[in-house]
Amino acid sequence: MDRVNVAALIVAAGRGTRADSGSPVPKQYRELGGRPVLAQVVMAFAAHQRFSAIQVVIHPEDRARYDECCAGLPAPLRPPVHGGAKRQDSVRAGLHALASASPELVLIHDAARALIGREVISRVLAALGTHDGAIAALPVVDTLKRSAADGTVEGTVARDSLWRAQTPQGFRFARILAAHHAALAAGRDDFTDDAGIAEWAGLRVALVDGSERNLKLTDQEDFALAERLIKAPPEACEARTGSGFDVHRFREGDHVWLCGVRIDHDRGLEGHSDADVGLHALTDAILGAIADGDIGQHFPPTDARWAGASSHVFLRDAGRRVGERGGRIVNVDVTVLCEAPRISPHRDAMRRAVADILQIGIDRVSVKATTTERLGFTGRREGIAAMASATVLLPACNRGD
Ligand code: MG
Repeated sequence: MDRVNVAALIVAAGRGTRADSGSPVPKQYRELGGRPVLAQVVMAFAAHQRFSAIQVVIHPEDRARYDECCAGLPAPLRPPVHGGAKRQDSVRAGLHALASASPELVLIHDAARALIGREVISRVLAALGTHDGAIAALPVVDTLKRSAADGTVEGTVARDSLWRAQTPQGFRFARILAAHHAALAAGRDDFTDDAGIAEWAGLRVALVDGSERNLKLTDQEDFALAERLIKAPPEACEARTGSGFDVHRFREGDHVWLCGVRIDHDRGLEGHSDADVGLHALTDAILGAIADGDIGQHFPPTDARWAGASSHVFLRDAGRRVGERGGRIVNVDVTVLCEAPRISPHRDAMRRAVADILQIGIDRVSVKATTTERLGFTGRREGIAAMASATVLLPACNRGD
């Protein structure tokens, strides 16, 4: 599943007249949060990094708009193809265009769902490991009424097992292409989504959790809601906090490394690496926040590769592990415990070093120091201790993908 060839097919060939509020621009080219809707969607799939091809299907009259909207967007975006009269025709055209890329899986997505997130894409992809197809969907929570001709209620429809289908809808590429061909041959052109064609062709299609955020932009009210959602943090994020602690003993020497900064001192610190006790505590704090072991597990002191290593390597690796999970570091806080050297003259250089290694803003990095009133091993100047905490935002549904 991990290394199979996956394509994204983005359907942007509609005219979007319902969203028309006097604007001559089709909704997929309208701006949302400072970027055209279609550009947002392409970026969401490109950022996921599991796609080896991204194919957009456009209306023939929109070529100039497409070029303006998508100029400069990264590979694997392919040149657009023209859609047909109906959505089904447009998807078929896109599938034909993708055939040369030989994808094993394809995720088909409506360009009007501009706020598609990484987690929903990942869930659809994961379900394709065990099914011919998988679609993002939400259970119906409102009570459903059937109306009579006179506008009164005729009855209540049981909502158990009813779902609202969203996109992306993912399939084994060869199977959905064959289903589209079969539908064409059978004269069926009335399917409103690809899962409908898949069901008709007898494929087993899984339902995975979609997201309320993944709304379809239809009218002006939807655009206003989407603008608000873009400014709000994603619903599916949760904060994680980790802590770390480390000690290194003094030895002969003329400098110490603390929080990524070399400081002249009348002693050095003993350790397998550069013995940067601050970066070690911080690395453990970040690993703790994502529940991914500790520094000794990832960089065993018995491994000759890390002899004399700069502790930048350890911290950068912890930051990379956060990024791999689709997360980001909110803030970090390090406290150094020692009588000497004095930390305050170096505090801002330390904050800058940590911010650079983790590639976060310096306002997210705190470095503090304290003595222990000459008590204990730090008070007796036998060594330096450091403690740290880190807060990380992770997608709430993260399953390590
Ligand atoms: Mg250490």
